[in-house]
Amino acid sequence: MANQKKLVVANWKMNPASVLEAKNLFSGVCRFASRLRTSLVIVCPPAAFLGDIRKSGSPKCAIGAQDVSSKNTTSGVGAYTGEVSSAMLVSLGVRYVIVGHSERRALGDSDEIVNQKVLSILRVGLTPILCIGEAVRDKEGDYLRFLQNELRTSLGSVKKADIAKVIIAYEPIWAVGKNAERLDTPDDLFEMTIFIRKTLGESYGRSIAMAIPILYGGSVDAKNVEALLVHGGIRGFLVGRASLDSKSFLEILKIVEHSPRRK
Ligand code: PEP
Repeated sequence: MANQKKLVVANWKMNPASVLEAKNLFSGVCRFASRLRTSLVIVCPPAAFLGDIRKSGSPKCAIGAQDVSSKNTTSGVGAYTGEVSSAMLVSLGVRYVIVGHSERRALGDSDEIVNQKVLSILRVGLTPILCIGEAVRDKEGDYLRFLQNELRTSLGSVKKADIAKVIIAYEPIWAVGKNAERLDTPDDLFEMTIFIRKTLGESYGRSIAMAIPILYGGSVDAKNVEALLVHGGIRGFLVGRASLDSKSFLEILKIVEHSPRRK
């Protein structure tokens, strides 16, 4: 696990269009990452590029997948056309797996399916980056019950011994993938991280819950990362669009590297 370092996860989604572009983008990030001391970069390219990216990488840049099959077979193989197992990701040198991203949930991943994926990732010793987040933040507070349920079900059967290997990415859906007009203020975010830790603490105990890294995602850019990191109670960020633009992404890395964080 990434001990106490700040974490920045680049979710490239279905980008870029060619392996050559992917390798170029990755090598620029890795060159920069080799100078980082307080933070770790985890690049998550499309599955099709994982092998080539791995070969062109450096130990300073970790690699993650964007998803994995929920078919948790002990052998890691089976008659599941189009699926990629967690065992296959291990053999590619992948260490982290994003799971439960809202864009995958919109394609049909229920909390129960996400839970199968989390268990499959943990079984082979990889680190799940579990995404949770509400679609709307209603005044009645239903979003808190929604989040609690999403978190508990997605982590169903995850034992105390394994929970320390999980990274939570809190990504309110209303803030993801848009030039969102309204974003969480750092204090709003701090309240949400307390709520997430409280929910985790009910299942795993307070000290374990306090140590689980929580990342924030949703229209993160160089203008908002510092305040969110310093005051939001988070360990780092999951970055979508801005991770595809080298200049913006390196700017984010630079700010994260030099910013303290609220513990
Ligand atoms: C994401 O897809 O996880 C994400 C945070 O995207 P963006 O940064 O583009 O909002």
